[in-house]
Amino acid sequence: MNYATRRFDAVIVGGGGAGLRAALTLAEADLKVAVISKVFPTRSHTVSAQGGITAALGNVEEDHWHWHMYDTVKGADFLGDQDAIEFMCRNAAQAVYELEHMGLPFSRLETGKNAGKIYQRPFGGQSKNFGGEQAIRTCAAADRTGHALLHTLYQRNIAARTQFFDEFFALDLIRNDAGTVIGVMALEIETGEPWLFEARTTLLATGGAARIFRHSTNAHINTGDGLGMVLRAGLPLEDMEFWQFHPTGIPEIGSLITEGVRGEGGYLLNKDGERFMPRYAPKAKDLASRDVVSRAIAQEILAGRGCGEHGDFVLLKIDHMGADTIKERLPGIRELSMQFAGVDPCVAPMPVTPTAHYMMGGIPTNLHGQVVVPVQNGPEEPVPGLYAVGECACVSVHGANRLGGNSLLDLVVFGRAAGQHMLAYLRENPFPQATPQAPVEAVLARLLRWDRPTGSERVALLRAEMQHILQAHCGVYRNETLIRAGIKKLTEVEARLADAFIDDRSRYFNTARIEALELENLLPIARATLFAALARTESRGAHAREDYPERDDDHWLRHSLYFRANDELDFKPVRLKPLTVETIQPVARVY
Ligand SMILES: Cc1cc2nc3c(=O)[nH]c(=O)nc-3n(C[C@H](O)[C@H](O)[C@H](O)COP(=O)(O)OP(=O)(O)OC[C@H]3O[C@@H](n4cnc5c(N)ncnc54)[C@H](O)[C@@H]3O)c2cc1C
Repeated sequence: MNYATRRFDAVIVGGGGAGLRAALTLAEADLKVAVISKVFPTRSHTVSAQGGITAALGNVEEDHWHWHMYDTVKGADFLGDQDAIEFMCRNAAQAVYELEHMGLPFSRLETGKNAGKIYQRPFGGQSKNFGGEQAIRTCAAADRTGHALLHTLYQRNIAARTQFFDEFFALDLIRNDAGTVIGVMALEIETGEPWLFEARTTLLATGGAARIFRHSTNAHINTGDGLGMVLRAGLPLEDMEFWQFHPTGIPEIGSLITEGVRGEGGYLLNKDGERFMPRYAPKAKDLASRDVVSRAIAQEILAGRGCGEHGDFVLLKIDHMGADTIKERLPGIRELSMQFAGVDPCVAPMPVTPTAHYMMGGIPTNLHGQVVVPVQNGPEEPVPGLYAVGECACVSVHGANRLGGNSLLDLVVFGRAAGQHMLAYLRENPFPQATPQAPVEAVLARLLRWDRPTGSERVALLRAEMQHILQAHCGVYRNETLIRAGIKKLTEVEARLADAFIDDRSRYFNTARIEALELENLLPIARATLFAALARTESRGAHAREDYPERDDDHWLRHSLYFRANDELDFKPVRLKPLTVETIQPVARVY
């Protein structure tokens, strides 16, 4: 099979916030940078981020990055690496000002001594003075912060002459015999042509994978392709048992109602009209961290206090804020609610339920975005030439539970750090390496496999079965019996993949083929999730085991690493030592 070849200094797979931030640093240094994206970049999931980006600017009240760091460590249920968290929170303000100077149209404060400065809103899990009063820390462009961020970064990249390969689907990493990553193979969706992108550095920024679940706030494109590529390359994934269920998704549809709604004063009600969060989190109430609020909703539903015919959702009330404020601060939310739930929140409460939202785990990296692998009896080592940032990566700043507004921050802080490290790496490694044929042939064979004319299994059906299994067997609450049954069912679905086929075998813009390739990535991610969830016999952050309801720091203050071969699991310690400040010691988490 013929394929086209192009050579770059850096190939970035993913045109979301993370990929574009990294690309910008490289392109502005006049390097030859390619961004490959399976959708037009400004359609990446970053575009749908609503609530904001968290940074201790102190525009509304006194604030400090160290307070933000404390909240992030606590929100992560102490599983986050404290050096990475310090790095992110310390660099947050600079990262936000950088975006402001690039032209990101943040909302502005209207009154007070800081009128005209960037608007900030309260978000869940954010406190002042190490666990004190609610902090007002999340910077927002109305309820379209991700949209503003993505378009700003895209335009900047156009100006810096980043080369975009839109609607190219990356298939697999290419490694040489020494293990160095020397590029990727991709499929040009429009023509069906395979391409080899040779590069001295390759960065994965392929975003989340919550499409392994039936109910998800994620775009349909969030299929974890970078994670699939990494597993196929024999590299591990970290902390895959930790999936965040956002408390407020629209039932069935999955669309997200931002936490900013509760930040602006909205609160949850059960079917008796009771504001129930104070019973679960007396101090933070509706703004406790997401895992806490999701479990509270799940418990209300289990106790028969859910709303609707099936008692399977609760209500989010904001009409007391007044129509004018809602229309100004939360226009997109009002639109979503009217369109997908048939409710105008200016007059009635919105139906909401916990919905799979964010992957805390992912491709293990260090502070520079280098992908790292464990080495026997030694510190972990970087995989030469390979980087990962954004939701697909696990650095790990979110630990067992991410705080709202910290993902957009993660994208820009570590996107920039990875870009800078790649610059240094490129200076030290000036010569491209020869591409061996065998790995290229293997990718082409995997692609050709979908050209066979018959089979007995349908891609869409297998995907739906996988999504049902994960939803039922690895949701907000898990236990050993449930997970084991889930593994058995998923193994059967995986076996049937061998007999799957697609009707449409045309070359041009064949979306059936893309969906088949995506399923080949989703299935191993689902499997990694179940095995990691089975192994962790404790409850921590978003991982709630009914059979092990307590956090167990003696055994489980460590990260899991899942390898595809034999479903092997390895573990590594949490980095409790920050860069300059003192360790924030693990204590019981109360909101
Ligand atoms: C509805 C919603 C609201 C959110 N709101 C907030 C918020 O207010 N604040 C916050 O901090 N976080 C929020 N988050 C989380 C945050 O938006 C995401 O974690 C973040 O935007 C992910 O960015 P990314 O750059 O890693 O990936 P994405 O933006 O998802 O981009 C992934 C890119 O990879 C490309 N790609 C993937 N696979 C392939 C392939 N095989 N070949 C080629 N290209 C590929 C895609 O085309 C895309 O360009 C929200 C998430 C959702 C779903």
